Amino acid sequence: MYKKTPLESWILGKITGNPGDPAGLTRSMIEEYQIRKLKETLALATEKSPFYQRRLGRGAVEKVRSFKDFQQLPFTTTGDLSRNPLQMLCVSQDSINRVVTLNSSGTTGQPKRVFFTAGDQELTRDFFHHGMSTLVEPGDRVLILLPGALPGSVGDLLADGLRRMQVVPVPHGLVQNPETVLEIMAKERVDSLVGIPTQVLALAYHERAEQEKDKICLKNVLLSTDHVPAVLAKHLQEAWGCRVFNHYGMTEMGLGGGVECEALAGYHLREADLLFEVVDPESGEVLPEGEEGEVVFTTLTRQGMPLIRYRTGDLARFIPEPCPCGTVLMRLSPVKDRVKGRIPLTGGGFLSMSLLDEALFAVKGVTNFKASLCTDNNRDRLEITVQVAGKVPGNITALIEQALFSIPVIINNIRKGKLILAPIGVEPLKELWPPQKRVIRDQRDKK
Ligand SMILES: [Zn+2]
Repeated sequence: MYKKTPLESWILGKITGNPGDPAGLTRSMIEEYQIRKLKETLALATEKSPFYQRRLGRGAVEKVRSFKDFQQLPFTTTGDLSRNPLQMLCVSQDSINRVVTLNSSGTTGQPKRVFFTAGDQELTRDFFHHGMSTLVEPGDRVLILLPGALPGSVGDLLADGLRRMQVVPVPHGLVQNPETVLEIMAKERVDSLVGIPTQVLALAYHERAEQEKDKICLKNVLLSTDHVPAVLAKHLQEAWGCRVFNHYGMTEMGLGGGVECEALAGYHLREADLLFEVVDPESGEVLPEGEEGEVVFTTLTRQGMPLIRYRTGDLARFIPEPCPCGTVLMRLSPVKDRVKGRIPLTGGGFLSMSLLDEALFAVKGVTNFKASLCTDNNRDRLEITVQVAGKVPGNITALIEQALFSIPVIINNIRKGKLILAPIGVEPLKELWPPQKRVIRDQRDKK
């Protein structure tokens, strides 16, 4: 039996004021609450934000009586966040506690900016506190391998959330040198860690002296910010005998969005703070439950910069079947790809990072890779450079080629004479590549 996600009683408490309410939580309670909060958010945005006044019109609140009405409203995009960030504010700039600037992949090239009040940041701390109680308990010691130097950064808010449940945070920041981090893990006796998938994998592969090995005893790993291929989670489980949980979030969501329960079967969502939809990325129509599309969310409790129907660019689907943990909360499937991350190949079919991830991380020792496509005599040429650590097999390049050939779209394109592989680049791990959005760089000639 799995423990029910603690997010359920947390959300019950946020809706009724009593997390132990014996009547429990139902879908209709959640939906009634969400509609009420949607209207409050629309009222706030159309009253205070010049951007939303223009985008939605002043009468938007009166027009929205149901989710169906709400689904007719226009989207907010990353382009809006880079062009109009100040116009989206619903409070004076004095009330803003933190501004996050993000590089935008949008056409404007301008960075996106996201603003949070102290109250908005408190919502995130509260989510981290209750979300983390899925996996850790009082007395545990959690290493945080996420940026945390600045007040209000993800690592800082997570540390605050953990302290609230008598868990000891061990803030570190991103991994640069695996040996240093493993030393800290042993010295600080950490039993759980939170980090970025490829960075944590590099730790698991790092070779240590025999007498150092049993000094680390890890119960739980929580991975965030990137797709987690099943093979990567398996390597971590093998290396440490730990459980591996996934978290879904992005800065725009207020850092946290959802976290898996013990059943490890999709994210349970932060439904009292965020309303999620899955839409057709082309038409923008809301898709029937269970179909894969683009994840869109609306903030329900944000005061500084509420976002209405914000397009994340992530592809996922709601899982209609009930979760084995027995919660009434929705489940979202793990995000594998981005809408723009599926690259059409010249000979047909699509190549994506998640396909490469599953194939390449299956090769022992591969901790990360870069992939790009260019044009070579009217064919696509795929270039792969891998970063490797630990005991690497002597025939690593052959193993990587084999792994690539196991991907149907690659072998089909090669057989058609429309794709060639460049010689595989192999870099030993000295220092980890700085984590960035992992995408296939498409540098082909545009016709
Ligand atoms: Zn569950």
